[in-house]
Amino acid sequence: MSVVKRRDILKEIFARKPIDVVQGKSLYEIWATDVFDLSKMKNVLPKQIFKSLEKTVEVGVPLEKGVADEIAAAMRNWAISHGAKFYSHVFHPLTGATAEKHDGFIAINRDGEILTEFSSKQLIQGEPDASSFPNGGIRSTFEARGYTAWDVTSPAYIMETANGKTLCIPTVFVSWTGEALDKKTPLLRSNIAISRSANRILKLFGHPDASISTSAGPEQEYFLIDRAFAAARPDLLLAGRTLFGRPGAKGQEFGDHYFGAIPQRVQVFMHDVEEKFYRLGIPAKTHHNEVAPAQFEIAPLYENSNISSDHQQLVMTILKNVARKHGFICLLHEKPFKGVNGSGKHVNWSIRSSVLGNLLDPGDTPHANMQFLLFCAAVIRGVHKYGHLLRATVASASNDHRLGQNEAPPAIMSIYLGAQLADVFERICKGTGHANAPISTFVNIGVDSLPPLPKDPGDRNRTSPFAFTGNRFEFRAVGASQSISDSLVAINTIVSDSLDWIADKLEAGIAAGKKLENACTDVLKEILENHSAVIFNGNGYSEEWIEEAERRGLRNLRTCAEALPVLNEKDIISLFETQKVITPVELAARYEISIDQYVKTIDVEAKLVLEIAKTKILPSVIAYLTDQVECFESLGEFRLDRSNINFVAEKLKDLQSSVAKLEKDLDISHNGSFEEQLNFHSKTIVADMNAVRAAADALEGEVADDFWPLPSYMEMLFIR
Ligand code: ADP
Ligand code: MG
Repeated sequence: MSVVKRRDILKEIFARKPIDVVQGKSLYEIWATDVFDLSKMKNVLPKQIFKSLEKTVEVGVPLEKGVADEIAAAMRNWAISHGAKFYSHVFHPLTGATAEKHDGFIAINRDGEILTEFSSKQLIQGEPDASSFPNGGIRSTFEARGYTAWDVTSPAYIMETANGKTLCIPTVFVSWTGEALDKKTPLLRSNIAISRSANRILKLFGHPDASISTSAGPEQEYFLIDRAFAAARPDLLLAGRTLFGRPGAKGQEFGDHYFGAIPQRVQVFMHDVEEKFYRLGIPAKTHHNEVAPAQFEIAPLYENSNISSDHQQLVMTILKNVARKHGFICLLHEKPFKGVNGSGKHVNWSIRSSVLGNLLDPGDTPHANMQFLLFCAAVIRGVHKYGHLLRATVASASNDHRLGQNEAPPAIMSIYLGAQLADVFERICKGTGHANAPISTFVNIGVDSLPPLPKDPGDRNRTSPFAFTGNRFEFRAVGASQSISDSLVAINTIVSDSLDWIADKLEAGIAAGKKLENACTDVLKEILENHSAVIFNGNGYSEEWIEEAERRGLRNLRTCAEALPVLNEKDIISLFETQKVITPVELAARYEISIDQYVKTIDVEAKLVLEIAKTKILPSVIAYLTDQVECFESLGEFRLDRSNINFVAEKLKDLQSSVAKLEKDLDISHNGSFEEQLNFHSKTIVADMNAVRAAADALEGEVADDFWPLPSYMEMLFIR
């Protein structure tokens, strides 16, 4: 029975043809056509109004009275002339998803004639039905309403879907008393914090108006699997990963996918996706195959971190939607398939000044570049003091499968500096700081006709969770499905805390008569003396590192159950409060919601495991066993080896007993406090699910393929 179904799936897939994607328009013609950006506003707004808006966007001052009216009118005209009939406040609730509520521009006058309506009030503020979004108890303590408020600094855009075009307005989502209920609000606040603290330092360097912002460039990994497989795999469809499946004979060991050409159907998909990105002003820059079969990556150019975070949410939405159109399912799960690499999201981060440029750019002589070293040291101190916070921001049920699995950084947070920079810091520590040792910046290829290649001073240590890569840091522990906002908030906040600490020291030193240069050297020394334990340039995947990290006192928070409670630790509560990024009430809500999300995810997976095991796998195995027993009986005279069917019978018993245990434990899994549920799910339910899977996967290796009810790894990963 099942084999017929699986063959039908293959027939469906082999019949697919690449979809025609309209080609031929130049980059100039399509770039940002669907975005109401500053250049478009400049064309349609009165000069004074535009100037005022520009100031709000660039400096962050509140919007002047009357300006919003003009913008709303211009935005409405632009959107309607582009065919939009609806508008929507888009926000990012604490689930990490993207939420929107649509309203029509339509209005009718007394004569029944149609008008369009979109006031500044409708632009600025919305009131979504907030009860369906998690609030961690915040709203019930205060009031049941939540508001969305326009983020003037992120441009509105038109989203085109099958049901038409909608004007989308990026917004924050807050309770009516102002508590953040979303991912954007803290990001905006953290940008303000780091701007304030960085300015304190730059002022001492003679730059009183340095205008600071942070930048982010997220690299997104994903899997593309034919949709027909997902229809036959409830686990892929509902949990985003395979809860069963025996890794096939061939996985990624040859690296042939990584280095091979991008398959044609996927190329067409990428082309379609990128066309949409460009129209939305998302600067997609690179795309390529990734290590695992059926795995790919896309990376845009870096942007202001707030815009980048909004764009990243759009990237995830568009990848999923466009995949469907092309007969794929796009999996953003951190570990869809056992035995091959999972997917992460490298978040490249830097801090810049509109006057001085990238503050993490060492320039030609890092030895002399004190300002750069200070900012770098601020990051070192921040990651050492608050590595556990970084770890907590990437904690999710799905990322638990990936971190520390020899394909992604370990759960221990350390910094990779690269040999050159590590050397500079070491010299400063030893008091030989300003030695003008020559720095080799070119790689000699050994073939004279080839040009020398510039050596990346950050080099490429792929095993470090937080690596300096020449002019930025790259946070590699973020999961593929996660919003990058939480990590950006954490990085901004811990660095801001360090910059404040540095500024305090420098200001005090200078007040006591020290020269700026000496005050800086002293601060650098102190930071390195206290925090260089976090610097690690070796192999982060090795066993030795785990032991070494423990000796250095670096925490190794292996699972969500260990990492999430960090959000409830005193130093973290105080850090966010002091930096005015997240209030204690908001943080408590976030902690509660993170646990809730974890428990719900594991619950859904556990229920799926039971369902698939009981309704698909068990009946198939029993049918196979019955069939085999009959065969062997009819062949009795040959006295054949029955060890295979004995093994199947044994594993069948294992499967039955592990299913029974999971069922029983799931029944009691919701007893106790939030933390108790977190621990119970993390330890008991996860172990129970693994036991069911172990029995089922062993059976998949023995039961005749014709009887097996689920598409195999081989089919899903290699057929498209
Ligand atoms: P990798 O070699 O790690 O794949 P890429 O060159 O593909 O790196 O780019 C990684 C990302 O880093 C891109 O999004 C890029 O725009 C971004 N990036 C480059 N410079 C900076 C910077 N100064 N700040 C933040 N992100 C940056
Ligand atoms: Mg990278």
